[in-house]
Amino acid sequence: MRMYDVVIVGSGHGGAQAAISLRQFGFEGSILMVSRDTELPYERPPLSKEYLAGEKPFERLLIRPAEFWNSKNIEIELDCDMVSIDAESHVASSADGRQFAYGSLVWAAGGEPRMLSCPGADLQGVHGVRSRADVDHIAASLRSGANRIVVIGGGYIGLEAAAVLRKMRREVVLVEALPRVLSRVAGETISHFVQSMHKGQGVDLRLGVGVKRLVGDGSNVSGVELTDGTHIPADMVIVGIGIIPSVEPVKRAGVSGENGVDVDEQCKTSVADIYAIGDCACHTNAWAGGAHLRVESVQNASDMATTVAKVLCGQDAAYDAIPWFWSNQYDCRMQTAGLSVDYDQTVVRGLVAEAKFSLVYCKDGRISAIDCINNTKDYVQARKLIETRKVVDSVRLADASVPLKALGDL
Ligand SMILES: Cc1cc2nc3c(=O)[nH]c(=O)nc-3n(C[C@H](O)[C@H](O)[C@H](O)COP(=O)(O)OP(=O)(O)OC[C@H]3O[C@@H](n4cnc5c(N)ncnc54)[C@H](O)[C@@H]3O)c2cc1C
Repeated sequence: MRMYDVVIVGSGHGGAQAAISLRQFGFEGSILMVSRDTELPYERPPLSKEYLAGEKPFERLLIRPAEFWNSKNIEIELDCDMVSIDAESHVASSADGRQFAYGSLVWAAGGEPRMLSCPGADLQGVHGVRSRADVDHIAASLRSGANRIVVIGGGYIGLEAAAVLRKMRREVVLVEALPRVLSRVAGETISHFVQSMHKGQGVDLRLGVGVKRLVGDGSNVSGVELTDGTHIPADMVIVGIGIIPSVEPVKRAGVSGENGVDVDEQCKTSVADIYAIGDCACHTNAWAGGAHLRVESVQNASDMATTVAKVLCGQDAAYDAIPWFWSNQYDCRMQTAGLSVDYDQTVVRGLVAEAKFSLVYCKDGRISAIDCINNTKDYVQARKLIETRKVVDSVRLADASVPLKALGDL
């Protein structure tokens, strides 16, 4: 059995950045990164954007060129599904019998796409969007003529996929069970703007209605039946309804957590020498009023990775980065800073009709988060105000001619 000072499970944004940061901070011990993936570490955000659109080849998604990992003495085992951890003897084992002894284990296993559980959910032509393979299957289906696409889920991934498919001139119906899209992550003004943008681009939106079953023609999906009895014909169904954190092996090893695994501000779990980062790590977030939550974003995975690398290098570190996120749909650039989970007031800056505005979320007169539509200036300046937690004048805040940076002087 091979022994490593650090074993990282997962080669997504979190796992890859943890390995990179360890070397950046001067860590000289042995590092192994293992992954279920069969590809070297790659970026996921382009999967539902430029990669699905065929605008970016896979090679440009790689987080680092292939030779980087060797040059930094970071070993990688791909196609390696970690299924059990013996926390006492510090040994991690894969489904195919590979065993690795570790000094510290960094669990960066992200999550698997949540799929439908209704009848017909396992028909062919029903796809999640999480990996290169998922998008390659979707692209192959498009090439062989799939034209009527039903997208289930009005979160970022479903909306981005819908935007790309409309640009490819496919017929798109988007089904969202809640009354508005993005309802878990954005205020009503943003949802309504996004809905009207998609309608304007020809997406058929069905809001506030669930999926009863998927209908097949033989083993292939041929339609979606909604809970209101409507039948929508479909050549392909794309499911974007969130993820299930991949945490079973560490949970069986005794790590605590109800929603993923719990970590403290140093990304330590409840079990000695096991850390968790990224989409699967449930933490207390100071930018969400101290709520205990998982954040699914590249920023969160990368910043947690940096934190854990510092901790493993014996440096002082605590994860407290301001969350940020972006999405591209059609020609619209959406940027978010902070988390809009704890607010008592929203303020619109700019003109929604001109598709250049911001929705600012405030708590006790302080800006806690902002969603910017084609408004990078506000996004950049708001980050500073969120960080300093200064009280701002809500009348001036609503005046788009007053730069946000001027409000900090109140
Ligand atoms: C289509 C799409 C679009 C996105 N767009 C954006 C965006 O625009 N902006 C943004 O900020 N975020 C976006 N995200 C979210 C972002 O990609 C994730 O938050 C980020 O990838 C999380 O990184 P992670 O390392 O925690 O998990 P992941 O990137 O999911 O990596 C987890 C890794 O663990 C491996 N793994 C899982 N279980 C095991 C196991 N048992 N054994 C071995 N390996 C295992 C997986 O194969 C994978 O390599 C998007 C995500 C998707 C899927």
